[in-house]
Amino acid sequence: MENRLKTLQETETAVHERFMREAIRQARKAEALEEVPIGCVIVRDGKIIARGYNRRNTDQNTLSHAELNAIRKASKKLGDWRLEGCTMYVTLEPCQMCAGALVQARIDAVVIGAMNPKAGCAGSVINLLQADGFNHKVVTLEGVLGEECSRMMKNFFARLRAKKGTSGTKIQI
Ligand SMILES: [Zn+2]
Repeated sequence: MENRLKTLQETETAVHERFMREAIRQARKAEALEEVPIGCVIVRDGKIIARGYNRRNTDQNTLSHAELNAIRKASKKLGDWRLEGCTMYVTLEPCQMCAGALVQARIDAVVIGAMNPKAGCAGSVINLLQADGFNHKVVTLEGVLGEECSRMMKNFFARLRAKKGTSGTKIQI
């Protein structure tokens, strides 16, 4: 875990930002479908091997979060459920379901854009990625293009509220 954290911290900011930009591009695809804009990519050996974006409403499926969509694709590509040696770049802190899947997939690391104080499970509500007792811990780096990721979410919800003309609409991520 120490080595993985060191690698993550020593990687140039420009490299992290390049992959986060692609995660943001994925989030924009969700937004184009009027979905909450969350996107991610999975990187291995410096290359993107899978992309995913939130399609929960489009697919009418709670399992259609960006992270799970990308994990599915990465595993198919690698022919392995284990994502050892892989790093996920995701625009928003993962939920409990996705954080659980990332641990199950034994992914090396997760780089997060914006934190999600009300629902995030990489340290905000709970930290499932680094919980004591599990046999795998996922190292994390927060705040890569964080402002941009957070602004994307805020703008989306502001537009949604304006469209619905109500302040009482509550959307859970
Ligand atoms: Zn999720």
